Amino acid sequence: MGKLTGKVAVVTGGNSGLGLATAKLFVSEGAYVYITGRRQEELDKAVKEIGGNVTGVQGDVSKLADLDRLYAAVKAGHGRIDVLVANAGLGTLEPLGHITEEAYYLTFDVNVKGTIFTVQKALPLMQAGGSIIVTGSTAGVTGTPAFSTYSASKAAIRNLARSWALDLKGTGIRVNVLSPGATDTPALRHLGELAGGKDALYASFVSQTPLGRVSDPEDVAAVTLFLASNDSRSMTGSEVFADGGSAQV
Ligand code: NAP
Repeated sequence: MGKLTGKVAVVTGGNSGLGLATAKLFVSEGAYVYITGRRQEELDKAVKEIGGNVTGVQGDVSKLADLDRLYAAVKAGHGRIDVLVANAGLGTLEPLGHITEEAYYLTFDVNVKGTIFTVQKALPLMQAGGSIIVTGSTAGVTGTPAFSTYSASKAAIRNLARSWALDLKGTGIRVNVLSPGATDTPALRHLGELAGGKDALYASFVSQTPLGRVSDPEDVAAVTLFLASNDSRSMTGSEVFADGGSAQV
């Protein structure tokens, strides 16, 4: 029996990287998973790759009407959500002095507004025993050059979970932050190219990480599964790092 047998999960940003690895693992553990993303083509590819017990719903988490459409599809299909992974997120490299209003709004609209309404609009479909996982980052607790806007958006995620744990008191619904460190996904590879070369960026992460490697998406998905499953039943309001120790030393 899988750790999520019979559960219904929603993974935003499930067509790539961490979200895709999480959706695959959840399905292999017995869940039915709804995945989202803005790019229909990537979503179709991900649905095919996962192979079954999955539905793709195209949408942008920063648009409330798209979230309404997502949850209407989940309601029609299964009538409830047991596990919600608010994972969709992005960031751009802009040092202080070069931060644009456009990048500020994009980052906060997707990472903060998107997370707030992804969670709030899911609540009517959730019940006692439900688990919400919001994706933070080691960047939320460390300084990173040219990444302050993204890092501040992830610091906001940390407090949302602390406060929501109190708002959810008495409901039996848990909420925790999963904070990855450097993980080999399309987003990190893209950032590496922007920073002047993926190999140099990865080498600097490896040198700062006690476990001596950049994580794979599957490493992080395993920790997400722990937070999704009954194994973490005594945890709410916590932040769990899957970072090879990089932000712990
Ligand atoms: P990724 O491969 O680029 O995946 C990001 C996912 O988010 C994609 O599925 C993307 O799909 C989706 N997305 C982005 N904006 C969206 C929007 N407005 N509405 C709906 N979906 C949206 O990146 P990743 O590395 O897996 O990142 C996943 C999460 O982990 C993010 O929150 C990121 O900040 C966090 N994280 C990553 C790392 C790392 O090293 N990789 C470290 C710490 C934290 P579409 O483009 O099709 O919309």
